[in-house]
Amino acid sequence: MKTDVFALRHIGPRESDIPQMLKTVGVDSLDQLIYETIPDDIRLKSELDLPEALSENEFLTHIHKLADRNKVFKSYIGLGYHESFTPSVIKRNILENPGWYTAYTPYQAEIAQGRLEALLNFQTMVCDLTGMELANASLLDESTAAAEAMTMLYDVRSRDQKKNKVNKFFVSEEILPQTLSLLQTRATPLDIELVVGNHEEFGFGDDFYGAILQYPGKYGQVHDYCGFISKAKESDIKIAMAADILSLAALTSPGELGADVVVGTTQRFGIPLGYGGPHAAYFATKEAYKRNIPGRIIGLTKDTNGNPALRMALQTREQHIKRDKATSNICTAQVLLAVMAGMYAVYHGPKGIEYIAGKVHSSATTLADALEKLGYYQANTAYFDTITLKADAAKIKPIAEKQEINFLYIDENTVSVALNEATSVADINAIIAVFAEAAGKDAISITELKELKAIPAGMERRTPYLENEVFNSYHSETELMRYIKKLERKDLALNHSMISLGSCTMKLNAASEMLPLSWAQWGNIHPFVPLDQAEGYQEVLKNLEHQLNVITGFAGTSLQPNSGAQGEFAGLMVIRAYHQSRGDLERNICLIPASAHGTNPASAVMAGMKVVVTKTDENGNIDVEDVREKAVQYKDNLAALMVTYPSTHGVFESSIREITRIIHENGGQVYMDGANMNAQVGLTNPATIGADVCHLNLHKTFAIPHGGGGPGVGPICVAEHLVPFLPSNPVVGTGGENAISAISAAPWGSSLACLISYGYISMLGADGLLDSTIFAILNANYIKNRLDGHFDVLYTGERGRAAHEMIVDCRPFKKNGIEVIDIAKRLMDYGFHAPTVSFPVGGTIMIEPTESESLQELDRFCDAMISIRKEIDAATAEDPNNVLKNAPHTLAMLTADSWEFPYSREKAAYPLDYIADNKFWPTVRRADDAYGDRNLICTCAPIEAYAEA
Ligand SMILES: *Cc1c(COP(=O)(O)O)cnc(C)c1O
Repeated sequence: MKTDVFALRHIGPRESDIPQMLKTVGVDSLDQLIYETIPDDIRLKSELDLPEALSENEFLTHIHKLADRNKVFKSYIGLGYHESFTPSVIKRNILENPGWYTAYTPYQAEIAQGRLEALLNFQTMVCDLTGMELANASLLDESTAAAEAMTMLYDVRSRDQKKNKVNKFFVSEEILPQTLSLLQTRATPLDIELVVGNHEEFGFGDDFYGAILQYPGKYGQVHDYCGFISKAKESDIKIAMAADILSLAALTSPGELGADVVVGTTQRFGIPLGYGGPHAAYFATKEAYKRNIPGRIIGLTKDTNGNPALRMALQTREQHIKRDKATSNICTAQVLLAVMAGMYAVYHGPKGIEYIAGKVHSSATTLADALEKLGYYQANTAYFDTITLKADAAKIKPIAEKQEINFLYIDENTVSVALNEATSVADINAIIAVFAEAAGKDAISITELKELKAIPAGMERRTPYLENEVFNSYHSETELMRYIKKLERKDLALNHSMISLGSCTMKLNAASEMLPLSWAQWGNIHPFVPLDQAEGYQEVLKNLEHQLNVITGFAGTSLQPNSGAQGEFAGLMVIRAYHQSRGDLERNICLIPASAHGTNPASAVMAGMKVVVTKTDENGNIDVEDVREKAVQYKDNLAALMVTYPSTHGVFESSIREITRIIHENGGQVYMDGANMNAQVGLTNPATIGADVCHLNLHKTFAIPHGGGGPGVGPICVAEHLVPFLPSNPVVGTGGENAISAISAAPWGSSLACLISYGYISMLGADGLLDSTIFAILNANYIKNRLDGHFDVLYTGERGRAAHEMIVDCRPFKKNGIEVIDIAKRLMDYGFHAPTVSFPVGGTIMIEPTESESLQELDRFCDAMISIRKEIDAATAEDPNNVLKNAPHTLAMLTADSWEFPYSREKAAYPLDYIADNKFWPTVRRADDAYGDRNLICTCAPIEAYAEA
């Protein structure tokens, strides 16, 4: 038997386990199981047409060869992307550490205090540098963050502004081009009118509700916005600023200037360029907008014992609760990258950040000085890191490229140069040499940076930042390494045990898939380099698009969206553009089943659609008659149906083809939410069920690690007739002939993370992908049958099978005083992360084991669940002092001198034998959400401040 087959490493159950598993499930063969699970009329007739699977070593050789085709030039292009150094201690201990990258979004706070603290550091860093009161724990990129600012400010318009339909938003022409494109994408469907212009000539009419400024401007000019902002305030125009995070160490903070929202990227805080991403964007605002801020905020609260505990605050703002009333669809964000950027600030501290900012600034002024001596005119009167020169671009470019240098060529006679942390004196001399050669002069050589300033005194930073202890304690590598480890130990990730989160597909993120992310040839490529410098990337992205086309049965793919929710928005915008291209201007109704994920209605509203909810029947299936009725009722205005398949109830509905036909007959398009694609790959596909477009969550089905809540990659795949509308990028030509404007800042979204999915598909090949799907279904049905008699599974297909996940009903236990949350917390004592809680049905858990879990792990989980079931039986509503209500149990409880619970310590912490071998200790007792929301603290306040509250 060949053993160097990647599928054998990726898929958990061994060949020898299969008979026993099939027996438990009650079928004779895997074929029979699949026959009983998937409707016949949607089964694929042939296997996926993909190249033969590569072994792990073959893949690494292959990806090495492709890496060699990327040319790592020195890029001084700027436009929001700058080379920076990832401190090795952060690279090795976070980026390359499954303890960090395989964690889930910290919904289960008691086993997530480590990353919650790291994210609180991130928020504190952002608040300090921007001078704002409140920051979230990341958005997808600077441009989407700017769009979120535009829509949030639209949402919080004054009553008069709303009454008078004030809808104009001023955009400074200094904004980054990709941000302008994204603002256009997001403004159009919402009736927001963008007015682009020069901020010095702006008239401040009362028909404007907001404005956005770039700080420093796109080509480096630092404007004094004081006058603009105070005039805007007089007209009740709210101000958003897109600010370069490093420049804020040298410039007056936006908060002091009077900004209402500040957004930007934290890429240059130690995150690789990665040909566009992933990087964490930040969003900071005033306390007054705490209920409107998009994304996740980490806040402090207390646990059962009154000790400090962190958790995600103000969840009621989120789309999963507000649905079509939500104003943002952000779900997956950029948590791992936010953790890294926050750690960069922890490692460097205020002095380090000041030094780096100072060095970058001196590099720019020293370069400007030298180029002026060569006779060049430098146009920026005040700047931080970017200078703009009058120069013959056509002359400069070939010389620069010969020296492996990229500048930004603004027009024939203008070249800009953005310097960064990685720019050395030798690099500056190389730049000078290029300009000298172009001018036909001898180069001037510098030996050290000069102490020249190009920031007027009035605009210099005067206020301190990063004063908190955490930013002043871990400046040696030993200390930071131990701090990172200390936090990591508090968190349960996939390197400890199964995380069976329904809908989230927490599968193996294989080391071979992850390794290339550490290589400079992938990391150090600016997204706007000429295509011939990124041939390796272009090959990977093209191949991945092709693989995804084959898997979905569609004709075209855009890798641009940075999350599933952004994919939904992108797909709906493509549908909108398609309808409009046919003169169907009135199609704006979007049918969405009641069981849909909260991002679906939120995305539909963002795309300017009206949500009409369709019913589900008592078996959890879409009510076909209700769909038919509504499709016919709205046939003149029907834009789309959004459908998740298999459904969020974990079932392959046999009526799916009929449903998609009904939509088409009434003029609508079918959007398939592909979050459950792990149950389809190789067995069926979105094209076959009759969809026109779908998104895929590459961070679920295609092995990109969850990162504690991101990064995500949410490509959309579309049928032939929608290909022309795939999204574009204003700097690099991408997308179809009638492309919609940008969905993400970078042309191919988070290119670096795409390497992972490319590796996953290439190493599994058609057979391995098919087996992964089959084993995902086997593992789920194995759990379902093992739990049979102990728990009720809510929904199954016509032949009694679950798909790749199942919903377990916990509502009946209320009579014993036990809520679903008690079960979730008790699982921690057994060493497990809870499954998905109360989605899509309140009071239930949704279990999805994935194919990567072994039989032994599935059994441990089932043993835990069955043991918990016995504990439930023993509990009573009258006496809540029981092992479930008190869960999770911490080491501090177990080792306290007194033990006042009516059960033993052993029962509390070691209820089953297997636990002793691999005990995981939650570090806090149950976190109090309500208390934390009432007393919101979202930065690293000193503990004393917390005690006073
Ligand atoms: C995860 C998920 C989404 C949202 O995807 P993100 O990548 O988190 O934005 C949408 N729908 C379903 C069913 C999901 O499970």
